[in-house]
Amino acid sequence: MFTIGPTEDAASGRAARPGDTAGVSSNPPRDTRVPVFVITGTSGAGKGTLERALLTRLPELELAVSATTRERRPGEVDGREYHFLSDAEFDARLDSEEFLEWVEFPWGQRSGTLRSEIDRISEAGRVPLLDLEPDGAIRVKRRVPNSVTIFVSAPTFAENERRLRARATESEGEIDERLDLARKQLEQADSFDYEVVNDDLERAVEEISAVVHGRLADAGTMSEP
Ligand code: 5GP
Repeated sequence: MFTIGPTEDAASGRAARPGDTAGVSSNPPRDTRVPVFVITGTSGAGKGTLERALLTRLPELELAVSATTRERRPGEVDGREYHFLSDAEFDARLDSEEFLEWVEFPWGQRSGTLRSEIDRISEAGRVPLLDLEPDGAIRVKRRVPNSVTIFVSAPTFAENERRLRARATESEGEIDERLDLARKQLEQADSFDYEVVNDDLERAVEEISAVVHGRLADAGTMSEP
């Protein structure tokens, strides 16, 4: 059973703010030898493409499906890319302390990691992979024993912007907000265990695979390649 213990924020007793987890669990701790991998980085760094390649290469990994209040994009399936929730449903899950972490973006959407997703993946004997923006990744790093955080960046900010615009799933206004946020997120790169520049997809996947293989071998869950 995967359990997150009391958080420093919960222990401090101050009121919850966006991005805080709400509760304190009294369940016994999970097997901390098994790592939880977190891919983070700027919006537009190409995390999604990298992750798809990584999941093909490393079948022991499974992507945790976050909950979100944002609109479903064409081609997205409820329960596959995200659990798409209304604001009221998200609030209800917050009240029942179902989130390991969550965040509210400047443009209003909220997204969060459900503890149940980590439990489901761990209990199936697989290794959770999370895709989080940097604030959420920092919270997981603090709260989850043996988490491994990997910050992915585009080779230049101009390339980051080009990728974000090419994706064109947001309105121009929202892209500008995402670019402002991406600038701030880049300053957080040093907070993570590894930084990978996504200039060449194959090489970036190779670098992350080496990290994953190494950490799983240390945990005794697989042999080195
Ligand atoms: P998008 O809305 O484009 O799917 O994702 C926007 C950002 O939200 C991405 O950087 C992604 O990593 C982040 N994100 C997705 N799910 C979660 C979550 O559960 N928690 C946090 N903190 N960030 C998330």
